[in-house]
Amino acid sequence: MHEETRINSTLWTELDNTPATTINPPLYRGSTVLFKNYAEMCEVDHHQFSGITYGTDRLPTQRQFEEAMRRLEGAALTRICPSGIDAIRTALMTFLKAGDHLIVCDNVYMTGQHFCSTVLKKFGVETTAVPANIAGDIEKYIRPNTAAILLESPGSITMELQDIPAVCAVAKKHGIVTLIDNTWATPLYLDPFTLGVDVTIHSLTKYICGYSDVLAGTVSTNAEHAETLDEFYKTMEIYTPAEDCSLALRGLHTLEVRLSRHAESALQIARWLETHSLVENVLHPALESHPEHQLWKRDFTGAAGLFAFTLKKDCSEEDLGTFIDHLQLFHLGYSWGGYKSLLTAAKVNRQTNSRYAGKTIIRLNIGLENVDDLQQDLEAGLAQLQEL
Ligand SMILES: *Cc1c(COP(=O)(O)O)cnc(C)c1O
Repeated sequence: MHEETRINSTLWTELDNTPATTINPPLYRGSTVLFKNYAEMCEVDHHQFSGITYGTDRLPTQRQFEEAMRRLEGAALTRICPSGIDAIRTALMTFLKAGDHLIVCDNVYMTGQHFCSTVLKKFGVETTAVPANIAGDIEKYIRPNTAAILLESPGSITMELQDIPAVCAVAKKHGIVTLIDNTWATPLYLDPFTLGVDVTIHSLTKYICGYSDVLAGTVSTNAEHAETLDEFYKTMEIYTPAEDCSLALRGLHTLEVRLSRHAESALQIARWLETHSLVENVLHPALESHPEHQLWKRDFTGAAGLFAFTLKKDCSEEDLGTFIDHLQLFHLGYSWGGYKSLLTAAKVNRQTNSRYAGKTIIRLNIGLENVDDLQQDLEAGLAQLQEL
């Protein structure tokens, strides 16, 4: 027998499995999980086995991240998904069924809203969009079959905040599940569970992973809804690659230092933009000029590094291009939360009345570059517009 053909029969048993102790836990990749003996395998058939049975049964790498995130959020249960949008879909499918009505704030992540108006609709769930700065007045949108309310505060483009405790109080009264996409604030700057929210959603792709090279998301619940999520997640056998779970766990260790730097730089640039002669509004909740600044002060302990602004002049796309293409440090691309500063610009298109209707929103992801360099870059870019 050639040596290479014996690789599976000999090498595998000869490998030294003595663990070394590394700071970060080892990565578990696997589809098949081995049972110690036949009795254990039989327990699976009798639904009595308490161990891990298969790769989709949440291997240790996945469980370690979920447990760390669960503790950080103060949740009863956390489950990881292969992207933020998958976490949104998973959360909604967990708590909705045919015949239900869903209320979605109009500034919720657009792809999530699209899922509601297409796929959920196809499966018999009706969705109503409500103003992005909704508060206790959400009650007037509630129907007898309203089962869930999806919030995102602040919305990641136009930055409106909802009055979260007021919405949750109304929802509780009607037995409605409340969900919030907490990607912007992360668990560090907003604790939705203490404000009465039942379910949180995070795109880990942003600050938690932090390097623009992983897609992942989480759904977490309070004790009341933990079993429902656990059952749905198990049934769907949602699988997130071990590498991504491990990178998300690694990201948690530096989240606080990265986020505080993002936050500090963003606030400096936001304050400076407010004084710029071409700028109309700066959409940043930590600024006193933000319409929901008082809500932010009451509920949040920090402001992340993503915000937006509008210009006084109604610029053509060509004029905007003159400004944007002049920038050296701000790159053009979707997503945010990474070390690289990014810019997007688009007109908002909402289903309800928006205070920024028809306005071009220029959104900045403030990265970890030197903040004075970033400010100079924007200053030089805006100077191009001034000359037009
Ligand atoms: C990016 C984003 C998502 C989706 O996350 P992905 O990981 O890119 O799928 C969801 N919610 C918000 C607020 C986001 O910014």
